[in-house]
Formats: sequence, C-alpha cells, structure tokens
Amino acid sequence: MSNTAVAQMLAVKLAEGLVHPGDDNTPATVLQLPGFRTVGMPPQLAEQVTDYAKLISEAIVATIEDDGSAIVPASELAQIRKAVAEMTEPVTVRVIRVNCTVCGNFLFSMNTDPTNPNPGVNGPYFLGQLQAIPAECPHTPS
Ligand SMILES: [Zn+2]
Repeated sequence: MSNTAVAQMLAVKLAEGLVHPGDDNTPATVLQLPGFRTVGMPPQLAEQVTDYAKLISEAIVATIEDDGSAIVPASELAQIRKAVAEMTEPVTVRVIRVNCTVCGNFLFSMNTDPTNPNPGVNGPYFLGQLQAIPAECPHTPS
C-alpha cells in the first residue's frame, strides 16, 4: 500500500479545498472542489463522497509513487541530504604515517591536505622533531 498518511491528508484537503501556492503574480488561493464537499448532504451520500475522496487520494499517491517518486517527510529528506553531504564531503585532512623501511618501526606522522598540490610543513619545527629521532634502527630514544 502506498503512503496512507499522505492519502488521508489529501482526502481531507479534497473536501476542504486544495490550496494553490500562487506564483509571482497571484497570491495563494483555495481551490474549492464542490464534488467533494459533504456539507448539507444526507449522511449516506456524504459517506459515499468521503469514500470516493479517499479512493481518489490513494490513486493520486499511487500514481506519484508508481511514476518513481517517493513521498517522504521534509524533515526526513533533510536528514538524508545532510547524511549524504557528509559522506561525500571531500577529505580535508589526511594523516600520513611514515615507517622505517629497514626495521618497520614508526618514525613520524603528519597531517596533510590532499587537495593541496604543494603541501608544506613548519620547517624549523619539523626538522627539529626529526633530529630527536635516532638515525639507527630501531629509532627508539635512549
Ligand atoms: Zn629502522
């Protein structure tokens, strides 16, 4: 079954009148649909009209969904879009870990911006830190 909550909402709006949102030249307008108004009708006829509005609404929702569109709450869609944006966000920092190719021990790590074609480092700090690493394997300070 298609989105019953939306179908129920549409059925109510068919009876109350649909609101056209308007455009640059025309304000929002309620479009009255006399065929769905039940005010003043005998109860049995009003029930038939209400049932018909429900069927029409379910058909509208099914038509939209069968055409490949999904009807989801705007708040849920915003959450999905936010999650997708975060998943596809470019990585702005990449950590490079450098190990000794002779003994395999860790030497140092540094953060780089993978989008920067000319990454740089704070030379005095970086070289000062490298000097603290013993040149002989296993490079552990004595
Ligand atoms: Zn080594």
